[in-house]
Formats: sequence, C-alpha cells, structure tokens
Amino acid sequence: MDQFDVIIVGGGPAGLNAAVVLGRCQRKVLVFDTGRQRNQRSKGIHNFLTRDNILPASFLQVARSELRKYGVKFINSEVTGVVQSKKKSFRVEDKKGRVWFSKKLLIATGVRDLLPDIDGFDEFYCKGVFHCPYCDGWEVRDRKIGIYSRNKNGPELALSLKTWSKHVTLFTDGKRITNTSAREMLRKNNIPVVTQRLKKLQGQNGVLKKIILADNESMPCEAIFFQAGYESQCELLNKMGCSTTSKGIVVTNKMQQTNIYGLYVAGDVSKDVQFVIVAAAEGAKAGVAINKDLQQEERSNS
Ligand SMILES: Cc1cc2nc3c(=O)[nH]c(=O)nc-3n(C[C@H](O)[C@H](O)[C@H](O)COP(=O)(O)OP(=O)(O)OC[C@H]3O[C@@H](n4cnc5c(N)ncnc54)[C@H](O)[C@@H]3O)c2cc1C
Repeated sequence: MDQFDVIIVGGGPAGLNAAVVLGRCQRKVLVFDTGRQRNQRSKGIHNFLTRDNILPASFLQVARSELRKYGVKFINSEVTGVVQSKKKSFRVEDKKGRVWFSKKLLIATGVRDLLPDIDGFDEFYCKGVFHCPYCDGWEVRDRKIGIYSRNKNGPELALSLKTWSKHVTLFTDGKRITNTSAREMLRKNNIPVVTQRLKKLQGQNGVLKKIILADNESMPCEAIFFQAGYESQCELLNKMGCSTTSKGIVVTNKMQQTNIYGLYVAGDVSKDVQFVIVAAAEGAKAGVAINKDLQQEERSNS
C-alpha cells in the first residue's frame, strides 16, 4: 500500500511551496499535477521579488528541481476521487484508477479562466489581452487601453486602469450600465463607454491594434483588460462536502484548514488575493499547519 504523510493535489506555486515546507520537515510527500497552471500562457510573472519576469514554466522547473533534494515525489496525473476513511486518513484515486493513501490532504488545484467568445481574444491572450492590472498593467502603461466587461464590475476595473494610462475606454459588449453613480464616475474620469457588441480584435504581427465593433467601426486599442469570470479546476472540494461561502469559495481558518479534519486548501482555490506569491505563501502556511497537526498526532500516539 502506498502510504504518504501528505498528498498534495495541484503542482502550482501553492502546492509546490507546501511541498518544500513539508519536505524539509522530512515528511513523505506526494504531489499530483496535470500541468494546467493558470498563468501558463503568461509571458512573465510579476509582483514576486527576485523572480521578476520569469516565465511560468521556468518558475515551475526551478521549483520542482529544488524539491528533488527533499525527496518529494511527483505524479503527472489527475486526481479524480478522494474519500476519507473512518480513521481520518485519505484514499486518493487518479483517473487511471490507481490508489494512494495519506494522513493529510492539501488541495491546491487553482482555477480556470473563462475567455469571452470573441474572435481574437484567444489569439492576443497574454500578448495584448490581460486579466490583472497588477500583473500586466506596467508593461502597457500609457497605451490606449480597453476594458472588456459585461458585468457590474466593469466600471471599477476601468477606473482602476487610470493608474496606468490616461487613455481608458470601457467596452460593455451590448450591456448598459444601469448604475447612475458608476456612470457619473466614469464621466468624471474621462472614461468613454462603448456599449456596442464587439465583433473581433485585430492586430499586426501578434500586436493588438484595434477593436472592431459589430457595425464594423474600428477603435484603436493597444491592450485589453477583461473580466469574464473563472471556475474551479476540479470538483474534489465540492464532492468532499467542504463549507463554502455564498460565492462558492472554500472557507478556511488562518492556516488554510477546512471544516474537514486533515483537509487543507491553498492558492487561488481559496479566497485571498490571486497572486503567485500569495498562493505560495498560503502553501507555506498550510505546510506548517499540516506538520504541526502531524506532530500533535505523533505525540498523542507515543
Ligand atoms: C494570464 C495570467 C497572468 C498572471 N500573471 C500573474 C503575475 O504576473 N503575477 C502574479 O503574482 N500572479 C499572476 N497570475 C495569477 C497566478 O497565475 C495565480 O495566482 C497562481 O497561478 C495561483 O497558483 P495556484 O498554485 O493556486 O494554482 P495554479 O498555478 O493554477 O496551479 C494549480 C495546479 O493544479 C493542477 N490540478 C488541477 N486539478 C487537478 C487534479 N484534479 N489533479 C491533479 N492536478 C490538478 C493544475 O494542472 C495546475 O497545475 C496570472 C494569472 C493569469 C491567468
């Protein structure tokens, strides 16, 4: 029987930083990963001192190679089932039907972003089309920036982008802004609102140049920040019956522990700011909490 101290589902920054803490505690750790890290198409990670502009793939390569020293094991496979036994240990099954057991479980499976179904969004994604101003705003500062949002958060994102550029336009793709104070704030901050449907994004040699509207009018645009939502990458937490908020976010204590004994979550799948460094920090906190729980159990069993 393959028994581990800790199984970690998800080998992004959250899962890997938990693995380094636990590996250094001499715990027997197994990490499962399917290689679909959220930022894998990004051209460089920002907001992480000492790692400025590193490619996500290089970041993960360095992380995995550092983990070898601490004996952490990896399996590149999808975990599809988790069951907790009466003795509180976890039975973990992958999609090939193989089974492993662990005393503690950390879920760090991240989220999957939804892209608007508009011609050009996928082509320019991470080149001229971005999610987060903190992650990519500096690179496109002072350019002509479009905000794409069909939901009520669009005005706030547009106002926020004024920190990076004077030239901000909000595109609502067929939606009207009904909130009068939001409309007034946009007007005061010189943010034009275009409510027409979008037809496509257009550029040259991979560089975004304009947005073509439904009536074929074209508007110059050098970068787009958009909000189209995201969803969980895996259903394990729901299946296990974790407590969630009304927005579907898993509830944890300060040390990333869920309502289910021995089960922790870290990274974008939990509720804090969605940055690489925050995900890694949550992983580190979960690692410490898991090790302390194991120490406690070892003391009471001795
Ligand atoms: C385009 C883009 C650019 C970004 N740029 C920045 C930036 O510059 N700076 C910054 O700080 N943040 C940035 N972010 C945010 C950053 O990517 C996330 O905050 C970070 O990746 C979260 O780490 P995580 O470990 O929680 O999840 P992820 O990195 O998404 O990793 C989760 C892992 O779990 C695996 N997985 C999921 N389900 C299973 C399963 N059932 N079995 C096995 N494995 C599974 C996935 O394959 C994936 O590898 C960006 C995000 C995007 C989308």
